[in-house]
Amino acid sequence: MLREKKYILLVLGMFLIFLLLNCTSAYGEDGFEGKKILVLSSYDVENQWEVSVVEGFKSKLASENSIKFEYLDSKVSSSESYGDSFLNLLNLKYKSDGIDCILAIDDEAFNLIRLNLFNEDMFFYKKPIIFVGVNNYVSLSFEESKYMTGLMEYQDNSLMMEIIEKEHKKLEDVYILLDKSIYSQTIKKDIETILPMAEVPFNYHFIESSYFSEVLDRVSDINEKTSALYLCGTYMAEDSIMMPSKDVVRLIRETTKSPLYTKLDHYVESGAIGGIINDGRKLGATAAILLERFTEEFGEISITPLYNTYNTSLFNYKVMTEYNINPLKLPKNTTYINKGPFDLLLPRYLIILVWMTVAFIFIGVIFAIYSSYKSKKKAQYNRLLFIESEERNKIRTDFIITLSHELRTPLNIIINSGQLLIDRTERSEFNISFFIEKLKFIIRNSDRLLKYINNLIDASKLEIGYMNVKFNNSNIVYLLEDTTLAIVDTAEKHNLEVIFNTEEEEIITAIDEEKICRVLLILLSNAIKFSKESGSIYVDISRDEQNIVIKVMDNGIGISENIQQSIFEKFKRVQSVSSLTVDQEGSGLGLYIAKGFVQLHNGNINVESEVNKGSAFIVTLPIVIVEDNPNDSPFTEDELKRLVKLELSDI
Ligand code: ADP
Repeated sequence: MLREKKYILLVLGMFLIFLLLNCTSAYGEDGFEGKKILVLSSYDVENQWEVSVVEGFKSKLASENSIKFEYLDSKVSSSESYGDSFLNLLNLKYKSDGIDCILAIDDEAFNLIRLNLFNEDMFFYKKPIIFVGVNNYVSLSFEESKYMTGLMEYQDNSLMMEIIEKEHKKLEDVYILLDKSIYSQTIKKDIETILPMAEVPFNYHFIESSYFSEVLDRVSDINEKTSALYLCGTYMAEDSIMMPSKDVVRLIRETTKSPLYTKLDHYVESGAIGGIINDGRKLGATAAILLERFTEEFGEISITPLYNTYNTSLFNYKVMTEYNINPLKLPKNTTYINKGPFDLLLPRYLIILVWMTVAFIFIGVIFAIYSSYKSKKKAQYNRLLFIESEERNKIRTDFIITLSHELRTPLNIIINSGQLLIDRTERSEFNISFFIEKLKFIIRNSDRLLKYINNLIDASKLEIGYMNVKFNNSNIVYLLEDTTLAIVDTAEKHNLEVIFNTEEEEIITAIDEEKICRVLLILLSNAIKFSKESGSIYVDISRDEQNIVIKVMDNGIGISENIQQSIFEKFKRVQSVSSLTVDQEGSGLGLYIAKGFVQLHNGNINVESEVNKGSAFIVTLPIVIVEDNPNDSPFTEDELKRLVKLELSDI
């Protein structure tokens, strides 16, 4: 058993060793199968265009490949000895390690490699070389083309000049800002060739320097109104450190108002207007594809260097609008950065026109909505007015009918009683009790008529604000008690109990005694009218710091909630079935007058009621003291009697 286990372990171990050996052989001696690529840039690590070439290159490169980076930094020195020393250093670094192929970016790196292509001591001897961004025309020998190929940069400065010419009609000078690189020299050569042929209406000048301060000095001298700038170089500060693109653009724009065009995308992003730029990313991506093909069939094929056409029109929308650049004059496939979704690609005057039209339409729509809303509101208002006036008409008609009835009933009684008295007198039938009864009828109904007429006059006075009020400091408790007691007889005749309740003996406050007496009488006469058989009427007086509160309660028929507030309006009478009054009609003015009188005292009146349970009218009056007017005659007992007689005349 133990022996069998040992065999199994041995076989498993051998299998694992076999697998491990197979794996390492698949990945080469050091476990790595991809290519080792050296990217050799002409400038330093900050050079934006070269950075974007590398980005594009990496994006298309198979992941198993590895990349090393070296920077020639040719702007610091371009001497032969510097180049030789640089290569010697790289040789020390990469000779033993073994680089599979090289990507040379820009002219300087390309030239250095090309010069040493057949040097047997160099680490790249007979290795595939790809180059990009080479500006000078390259004609490779047959032997060279076996080992190197690449993409040459196609300069499209003529299109740029055409755009500058179209956009600035009054232009006299164009300043082309260059550095000392081969790239800059190629641009210079290109422009010197094309501009005389193009017969442009402006002069052109080259400002060439590796140092930004020198460039800025020259720029500060130009006539900013008639000049344009074409920024193509990258610059160093005094300390030989590369100037960041943002600082270059900012400082130029601070120095001159002349429009600033460029050939480099990082300047467009930093605030230059725009230009025909060479798309480094696309170029890098194509270089990666070219490298794959060239290394795969290395030694078997040669590929003639190609001119790339990755020239794209790139403009900064925000900066463009600042300089009033017309987008309609730019190439059709222009890419815009800093452009919002509502930014229009039109000249400024058209943008203003479009927005004005939009604003006009918007205002028009708002106005139309507003007008329709207004007319709807007006129609609604008119309808309300119509309903209101209909209601007012109905109230008026009802009032006239009621009033005629109210006036006619007592008048008929008076006329009939008078006629009966005349008939009896003519027949000499003098029955004293009959006479007294009829004369009482006449007096009571005359009082009833007088009450209606007084109410009509008071309501009109209240409406026009012409009510005369005499305020005197009086004991209101005393007045209310007397008034309540004065209706007890009438209430008892209708089998109703009257209870007056208060803990206050005396509350002196400024009131018009007659009016407060009328208020209480109106409430009490209603309480009698709308009580049920054997009901009770309570009058309760209380006070707090500032107010006196008068409650008149009954346990009568009550008032439904939906009409509780409208009973205080003029001529509002509610159809109710009273169990006590023979004639349940009224003028509908009582509560209107009561409310008016209370308000004259700066008080208020409210109702709480439940149908079939009863009602409570609550009057609140502020307690105030005024200076007594000695000319005002006091409210007498006779006057109280007269008011009671009138107010209860229809009960
Ligand atoms: P009127 O002078 O005709 O009595 P009011 O203005 O005094 O008119 O009262 C208006 C209406 O309020 C009355 O028609 C009646 O329906 C209702 N009302 C007033 N007081 C009471 C009450 N205590 N109980 C029930 N209904 C009442």
